[in-house]
Amino acid sequence: MAPRSERVTQLEPVNSVEKKYSETTQKRPAPQIVWKNVYFMAVLHLLALYGIYLLPGANLRTWLWTWLCHFLGGLGVTCGVHRLWSHRSYKATWPLRLALMFMNCVAGQNDIFEWARDHRVHHKCSETDGDPHNAKRGFVFAHIGWLMVKKHPDVIKKGQQLDLSDLYEDKIVMFQRRHYKLLQTLFNVILPTAIPWYFWNENFLIAFFICYAFRYAVSLNATWCVNSLAHIWGSKPYDHNINPAENLTVVLATGGEGFHNFHHTFPQDYATREYGSPWNPSKWFIDGCAMLGLAYDLKTASKDSILKRRIRTGDLRQLNNHND
Ligand SMILES: [Zn+2]
Ligand SMILES: [Zn+2]
Repeated sequence: MAPRSERVTQLEPVNSVEKKYSETTQKRPAPQIVWKNVYFMAVLHLLALYGIYLLPGANLRTWLWTWLCHFLGGLGVTCGVHRLWSHRSYKATWPLRLALMFMNCVAGQNDIFEWARDHRVHHKCSETDGDPHNAKRGFVFAHIGWLMVKKHPDVIKKGQQLDLSDLYEDKIVMFQRRHYKLLQTLFNVILPTAIPWYFWNENFLIAFFICYAFRYAVSLNATWCVNSLAHIWGSKPYDHNINPAENLTVVLATGGEGFHNFHHTFPQDYATREYGSPWNPSKWFIDGCAMLGLAYDLKTASKDSILKRRIRTGDLRQLNNHND
């Protein structure tokens, strides 16, 4: 029998992701910068910095309102376009889908159809040129850079190969797509600014810089951390062959979306996590909606399948080696 260290080396699986990446990198064209996005992001972040400067002078109700907008917009992304529309990890009645659609407009992260299509491609082609925010192109590209350049042709090609019939058939999704500019301007910019100004006489500019610019920049960066931080740093208890990792910082920043090694291994699980929910407000929200009869058919990965996967590709794979 060979010494154990030698056996582990022999059985180390080939990293197919690395191989795919090196193949696709050879033919990658130089990225074309989309200057209007660069200017928009630069201006938004400058306005957000000024919003931070204004924070001490804002009404306490303005602070709470800003947090509420951030929280609702966040649920519109995590429970709405991510767990419901991208992954179909649960089903929702039309009143819940309507509410999630409006909450998604508060977040202002592209319409549901486009977000879900890009996210499905992200899961299908992770860490290759078909991935819209391919983390192999570095932290900055995965975080914000991907929004400032034209999509790689592989992203478009792979996106066209997806079955998006469920999104086309969802009237609420298509309604939002048709009227997205108007809805996004109303729910992401106008209402967050006008409500503090109208209802508790907050200074209009303070409301704009804090409730729109600061809140919007924070929520965008929190979401982007899933693509950057959680695809670069963290533990990999379920599949050590893939980049996505369990990252506590991202869990805290996004309301439970940082259990990313689990999520990429079991994307159909509505909780995006194996154990309970010490910090997973998105799961609490879906559970609450299920209790009210608004959400149903919540999908979870079975304990047995999780254990088998940990033994096959995760942190228990030494057990697999011993059984050989
Ligand atoms: Zn996902
Ligand atoms: Zn991911």
